[in-house]
Amino acid sequence: TTSINVIGAGLAGSEAAWQIAKRGLKVRLYEMRPEKKTPAHHTQNFAELVCTNSLRANQLTNGAGLLKEEMRRLDSIIMEAADAHNVPAGGALAVDRETFSSAITEKLTNHPNVEVIREELTAIPEGLTVIATGPLTSDPLAQAIKRLTDDEGLYFYDAAAPIVEKSSLDMDKIYLKSRYDKGEAAYLNCPMTEEEFYNFYHELINAEMAELHDFEDQKFFEGCMPIEQMASRGEKTMLFGPLKPVGLEDPKTGKEPFAVVQLRQDNAAGNLYNLVGFQTHLKWGEQKRVFSMIPGLENAQFVRYGVMHRNTYLRSPEFLNATYQTKKRSDLLFAGQMTGVEGYVESAASGLYAGINAALIAQGKEPVIFPEETMMGAMAHYITHASPKHFQPINANFGIIPRLEKRIREKRERNLALSQRALTVLEEFKTTADI
Ligand code: FAD
Repeated sequence: TTSINVIGAGLAGSEAAWQIAKRGLKVRLYEMRPEKKTPAHHTQNFAELVCTNSLRANQLTNGAGLLKEEMRRLDSIIMEAADAHNVPAGGALAVDRETFSSAITEKLTNHPNVEVIREELTAIPEGLTVIATGPLTSDPLAQAIKRLTDDEGLYFYDAAAPIVEKSSLDMDKIYLKSRYDKGEAAYLNCPMTEEEFYNFYHELINAEMAELHDFEDQKFFEGCMPIEQMASRGEKTMLFGPLKPVGLEDPKTGKEPFAVVQLRQDNAAGNLYNLVGFQTHLKWGEQKRVFSMIPGLENAQFVRYGVMHRNTYLRSPEFLNATYQTKKRSDLLFAGQMTGVEGYVESAASGLYAGINAALIAQGKEPVIFPEETMMGAMAHYITHASPKHFQPINANFGIIPRLEKRIREKRERNLALSQRALTVLEEFKTTADI
């Protein structure tokens, strides 16, 4: 039999290659490092962690924790190495980055089914292929992928506003309305008094920003300026931008508030909302502190914080199926950050999923779609069903998993129940799908 190509030996590519190899199939694993470097990697190891050594929460009360457990049950090489090389980090799973990625590099390099090719690919190869070249995909390949999507399917920048859970909002303060009542009432509006606005403004312009990487210059797309940068241009600038109150009278008073922050529905289920115009470079803790000053958001649960960084990712809702196959070429799959999942573990999980499907396709079987009750299934569903226009990468979180039939008020308990259901469904799925 011929080999399956996996391009990029990062978090996703390493996991995909392992899932294919352990199923008895041959893999050609291409990695451009150390010949060609990326602006963020420092070693030639596979699955290098480019920033923090934390893989985030490890408990089943957290979406990232559930994802890890699902991966363990699917014999993940990333999770095996993470558990074997962990370092103390409270409720999180942090690893010794050096021994973690060395272990993965050795296991794959020594595997009889894996051929490692240290080479940069500049075109999309023929034949069964998984592309997992990450947010810093080299330029020639990124251009080739862009052409594959008819020039409109690849983002090169990730400027995302924070997303909050609707159930955590104070709806006594917030009202539903579209500006000038045009069309269906679609936005949730958070009204601010003059005093509230200036307090917010002062905290915003003095808040602490995340570190910029050298390769991330300050050039932002038109219309994608970070909110704090806009605010710093002048006291009133935001009032003519995202916080403009005109046409948004508060039904309780009949008057236009001094300022209004709008929230836009983010998913079809309607339980997640994003803060319109709030793409930001603030540190995550600062986002929570400052954005919680917005009336109605005092206790908001942030399922994703705003980010601004370089990122290469597909407009997956248009170009990918929930099997991680492209709609254009059924023997071409994508995995990792390129698909619009966000984070080390999320990237690895999508590699696991795509790797299983590449192996199934090579064996002449049907690729699988994981049930939406599992975190792996919910993420694949989200990235392929979100609105293509506003599509932004997503972390593992319980907001994307279908609700439980029984309502559980207490959050930890509810999350635990969602995790337990996910793991039961996953075990059944493993048996029936024979994976
Ligand atoms: P990668 O792990 O980057 O793997 C892609 C691989 O493909 C690389 O080894 C690269 O060398 C190779 N490659 C690229 N182009 C080619 C080519 N043409 N031919 C052959 N090989 C190629 N996530 C977190 O959870 N926590 C963080 O702290 C965090 N910090 C980040 C910091 C930065 C600066 C960036 C850019 C991202 C960060 N992320 C973080 C997001 C994400 O989790 C990581 O980028 C993660 O490594 C993505 O996994 P991946 O497998 O998709 O890509």
